Amino acid sequence: MTLPETNNSVVRIQPKLRWPGLSQPAATASAIAHRLRQMHDRLAAAYGPQHWWPAETSLEVILGAYLTQNTAWKAVERSLVQLRTAGGLSLDGLRSLPLEDLQRLIRPSGFATRKAPAIKAFVSLLDREFAGSLESLASTPSAKLRTRLLALPGVGPETADAILLYALGHSVPVADEYLRRLAERHQLLFPAPARNRRGYEALVQLTAAAFAADSPAEHARLYNEFHALTVAVGKAHCGRIPQCTGCPLADDLQQLSRSSEDSTANG
Ligand code: SF4
Repeated sequence: MTLPETNNSVVRIQPKLRWPGLSQPAATASAIAHRLRQMHDRLAAAYGPQHWWPAETSLEVILGAYLTQNTAWKAVERSLVQLRTAGGLSLDGLRSLPLEDLQRLIRPSGFATRKAPAIKAFVSLLDREFAGSLESLASTPSAKLRTRLLALPGVGPETADAILLYALGHSVPVADEYLRRLAERHQLLFPAPARNRRGYEALVQLTAAAFAADSPAEHARLYNEFHALTVAVGKAHCGRIPQCTGCPLADDLQQLSRSSEDSTANG
């Protein structure tokens, strides 16, 4: 998703303090995971239930996951309205839409010449390997299905995981640029997660660790809420320039700053 611009920087990170990543000793990794779990709780208390994903059907979620790449959600909504009007929000509708028409209908979301063939490729996969059934697709084990989705054109890990979690109900975390910034600014991972596949997978592991003590039956719901909540705080406070004043996670940052000062004072 396109990230909002903000213009009031009050974040102060202690560059010398290095919180280890999850490859560090279990006790420390567990403390970091616990911190992230507490951050979820603070966000949930501040923002309440997020009711994601904003869509009426699984197919609509899948289309939204494709269309929202590098695009603000408002633009996706315009594409979805056009698709609905043209009967393109059903599998049969998508199958019968010529590629050029699909490109025209999703143009508001940008990158239509890349996204339209990618959506068509998804429908082809569904028809070829899953008898055209989203239920059959959803019944495939998560790891196998993730690999299959990632092999499709135009599907990176964030899109694959959003489809798995929000459209198909699998218990997989979703990471994005908002969570990457949060992990970097709160020094949850060392090294800080990069904007690449490795950084993405580190964020996914961190999220899974944060909710590891929760019942597995709750994981899909918690991953769903956590991703939506990190987007909420990202849009409200943690854009390209953070606005920490009034942010629900400011306490964690202040605690981090105090720990850094203690560690510097103790040599
Ligand atoms: S999440 Fe909030 S407190 Fe943390 S860096 Fe971003 S704006 Fe600041």
